[in-house]
Amino acid sequence: MSRFRLDLNSFFTIINIMKKARTIIIRNPKLRKIRNNLRKILILENVARGEKISAREREISLDKDGKLRSLTTGELREASRLFRESSKYSTSLRDSICFCELCLSTDKDMSYIPRFRRWFCVDCSKELEEDQRLLLEEQANFKI
Ligand SMILES: [Zn+2]
Repeated sequence: MSRFRLDLNSFFTIINIMKKARTIIIRNPKLRKIRNNLRKILILENVARGEKISAREREISLDKDGKLRSLTTGELREASRLFRESSKYSTSLRDSICFCELCLSTDKDMSYIPRFRRWFCVDCSKELEEDQRLLLEEQANFKI
């Protein structure tokens, strides 16, 4: 008789894999169009803010010849704040439902996969879930 042993990390990994993906499906074409346009607006605004921050970072850190220059304490503080703000924008966009991280689609229904803490389009999420199911089977077979 084989004995099934599971360490704590594997246990939580399996629990996360087993959590079901949440899918948001919009069937009404008019609502789909509104959703897609809202996503595009949010992405464009996020990109615009990121570019504004980058422009300010270049303004602070480069001299008029485009070479790095030493910064004052106040400029260092501002550069640090800009970096944190820029990271916040890129993280919030990546975590959002606005696009699929794998295929970059902005006009599909999306599924949230708890294991990745990310939204993926329904097509990519099906592939990911299948990959996870196969991985789980392999892990279970290996440990028995
Ligand atoms: Zn996708």
